[in-house]
Amino acid sequence: MKINKLLTKINLTSANNTGRIKYIVIHYVGATGGAKANCQYYASQYVGASAHYYAGFGGEIWQSVEDKDIAWHCGAKSYKHPECRNANSIGIELCVRNKGSMADTSRDWYFEDATVASAIQLTRELMAKYGVPADHVIRHYDVTGKICPNPYVYNHTKHTWQDFKAQISGQQSAPTPHPAEASAWKATGTATCGGNSVRVRREPNGAVVGSLNSGQRFEVDGQTSGSWTHVNIAGIGVGWMATQYVVPDKAQAVQPAQAAQSVPATNNPIVRDGQIHCNNFCNAGLKEDGIRGAATVRGGVMVLQQAANMDYAAGLKVDGIPGAKTDAALSGHTVRIGESQEMVRALQILLMLRGYDPNGVDGSFGGGCDAAVRRYQADHGLTVDGIADVNTFMSLIA
Ligand SMILES: [Zn+2]
Repeated sequence: MKINKLLTKINLTSANNTGRIKYIVIHYVGATGGAKANCQYYASQYVGASAHYYAGFGGEIWQSVEDKDIAWHCGAKSYKHPECRNANSIGIELCVRNKGSMADTSRDWYFEDATVASAIQLTRELMAKYGVPADHVIRHYDVTGKICPNPYVYNHTKHTWQDFKAQISGQQSAPTPHPAEASAWKATGTATCGGNSVRVRREPNGAVVGSLNSGQRFEVDGQTSGSWTHVNIAGIGVGWMATQYVVPDKAQAVQPAQAAQSVPATNNPIVRDGQIHCNNFCNAGLKEDGIRGAATVRGGVMVLQQAANMDYAAGLKVDGIPGAKTDAALSGHTVRIGESQEMVRALQILLMLRGYDPNGVDGSFGGGCDAAVRRYQADHGLTVDGIADVNTFMSLIA
C-alpha cells in the first residue's frame, strides 16, 4: 500500500535495526487531528512521545518514524505485558472522531471505516514483512493498561477489537456461504432476531457476512458452538449469530447456550469487559480477569449504588454491600427500552458481569439491551418482559 512519509528527527531513539521488531501495538490518537497533521506535529517540537504510523480519516497512511528506529508509543512506569516494549515494537496510531466528550473514558470516540480498513492492511503488510504473528499484534491497553485505543477497549462501536484481530488473522472470506453448505442445510426451526445491527459471522468469532435487526426471521438447525448459534438467513446465507440474539419461535427450536445459564466459572470476555466498565464507572478496583468472583459481585452492587445516587439522589454509600437502603432506593423504579439514564448504564454493566452482552454500555436502553434483559430473565425464572425492575436488579447483583 502507499506509505506517505513525513519523518521526524526528534521524539525517537535511533536503532537502525528491523530485527528488533517482535510486536505491533495499535493505538488511537486520542485527539481529532489527521494523519499528516500528526506527523507534522511530532516533527516540529519535542513531545516525548511518537509513533511509527498514522492511519488517517480517508484511509491514507503517514509514516513519522522509520521501522528500524524506536518510537516512543507504549512506554510506562509499569507494564501489564511481560515482554512488549517500545524497543521491540512498531506503533500504529488510528485517527479518531469524537461526538461529544473528549475524556479518555468517554464512549464518544469512534473510527471511520476507511481508517480501520487501512490500519488492518498496514498491519497485515508489516506482519508479513517482519514475521510478526497475529498474537503479537496487541493494543496499547494490553501493554500498559491505558485506555487506548479507546474504541477497541470499550468495543462500544461497530468497530471492535475482535473484528480487527479476526481480519489480521486472515479470517477474511467472501461475503457468501459455500453453496454446498447452504444445500446441506437442514432446518429444525425458525427464530427471530432479538436486537438491532446484530452481526452474522461466517464462523463463530469469524468475519462478518451481514447483520440483522430486531424482528427479522431466519432458520436454525439446532447446532451451537459456545455462545454461537448456527443460522440460515435469506439474503445472507448460512452463518453464526450470538445465541443471546436468537429468539426461538418455538421453545424446542434452539436450546439456550449452556454458558448463558450459569455464572461463568472461567475467563469470560463479556465479564471481563464488564469489569473494565465497572472500574471506570465507580472505581471498583476489580481485577479484569473475566471471572465473576466475590469482588466482582461486590463491584456490581457498587455500580447499582452509584447509579441510584446519580439518578435518584438515593444518598447510598457506594460500598458494594447491598442492604435495605439499596433495595428501597430501587423499589418503584424501572428502566426499559427507549430510556436513557445512569441506571441503564448500570443495567448494561450488570448484564455484562453476568456474561450477557447488551451490545454496548452507553446508558441508552436499545434493542440489544432489551434482548439481553429478556434472555437473563428467561434464564433466571423472572417475568420475561424486558423491563428491569427491582426483582431483575436484585437478581443481577445477587
Ligand atoms: Zn496508545
